[in-house]
Amino acid sequence: MKILVLNCGSSSIKYQLIETQNRDVLAKGMIERIGMSSAVLTHSPKGKDTIRIVGEILDHSIALEYVIAVLMSKNHGVIQDKSEIEAVGHRVVHGGETFSGSVLITNDVLKAIKDNIELAPLHNPPNIRGIEAARKHLPNVPQCCVFDTAFHVKMPVYAYLYGIPYKLYRRYKIRRYGFHGTSHRFVSHRAAELMNKPYEQLKIITVHLGNGASMAAIKNGQSVDTTMGFTPLEGLLMGTRSGDLDPSIVTYIMGKEGLSISEVNTLLNKHSGLVGISGESSDMREIEQAMMEGDKKAKYAFDIFTYRIKKYIGAYSAVLGGVDAVVFTGGIGENSVRVRKAVLTGMEYLGIEFDEQLNENIKEDGEITKPDSRVKVFRISTNEELVIALDTEKIVKKLK
Ligand code: ADP
Repeated sequence: MKILVLNCGSSSIKYQLIETQNRDVLAKGMIERIGMSSAVLTHSPKGKDTIRIVGEILDHSIALEYVIAVLMSKNHGVIQDKSEIEAVGHRVVHGGETFSGSVLITNDVLKAIKDNIELAPLHNPPNIRGIEAARKHLPNVPQCCVFDTAFHVKMPVYAYLYGIPYKLYRRYKIRRYGFHGTSHRFVSHRAAELMNKPYEQLKIITVHLGNGASMAAIKNGQSVDTTMGFTPLEGLLMGTRSGDLDPSIVTYIMGKEGLSISEVNTLLNKHSGLVGISGESSDMREIEQAMMEGDKKAKYAFDIFTYRIKKYIGAYSAVLGGVDAVVFTGGIGENSVRVRKAVLTGMEYLGIEFDEQLNENIKEDGEITKPDSRVKVFRISTNEELVIALDTEKIVKKLK
């Protein structure tokens, strides 16, 4: 089945056309700077050169028209007609407490996503614009959505409630939701596959380290805790986000620096984390480079980043009552030999015997622990688009 996977941000659309039968990506690309005078379309059809087109694209609806047109274009296209697109799968960030799995988009579902806008004011509105655009340009094509939050929705009450008055949970739905669920689900399944063991019988800790970073504790196929919270700000140190901090710091900084609510939000979400501590960069490659050149603050940033991961592995192995596998994924988790080494050094007490050679040389999905290591550690490439395509296929096949 040919499925168009869409990930719509406030000024961008990322897309992939996936043939699910052989998990083949026929084309992928993105449009950036939607709504600005010079939007950029980058399109990579399978087996052909990548092209880049610059022009004015006013909104998501026009952007999607361009995407469909380039997918059908004579020289750079991969389909003859848009009727070849059999379904559309959308990434939607926040499903609130409503959705614990992927669903077909109906009017009721769209309304529920709109009802959750308050929980994700930056993310759900562009996701909705993408859904509405796809409904307009591909009117007879079934559409599904896959939520970042869904995998975590069933975690136990004591893991998702915060220690604030319960009525605030009732009134405003303030609770831990967690994000990156599609990635945690995908890589934990893949780990079970690599271990050749039933997913439902494993205790897995997944470590997704990209620009945003989060971990999940997965017991018998169910996420039972995760580091991101009410918003993606909580938990690990990230490229530009602070992660965990004493909430009193927020009001203290606001008082001292005279910051408004929106300014302190920006400080914690955009100017903290790796970039805030190093004063250099939010990019782990640049942090590592600066650290190797002796930059003290870059080293602090690296150390805080890896220390927190180590701390949460300890916490989650306690939560799970032991651990069978730890999985590293995301741009940093998949590629940074140093980050994995810093986290995994000194974890023998837990049963992790990591293999330095394997860690240095691994490029594909696989294990980086010694054969007799009680806990297996894997490096696995995440593939959220494939999950969206496969979930969509499953839902759409049931309609037929
Ligand atoms: P996003 O969360 O935006 O999808 P990615 O998953 O692509 O981001 O991760 C981006 C991060 O991965 C950046 O911090 C980048 O520096 C880091 N990264 C990519 N390759 C390497 C590498 N070889 N070594 C260290 N960090 C890397």
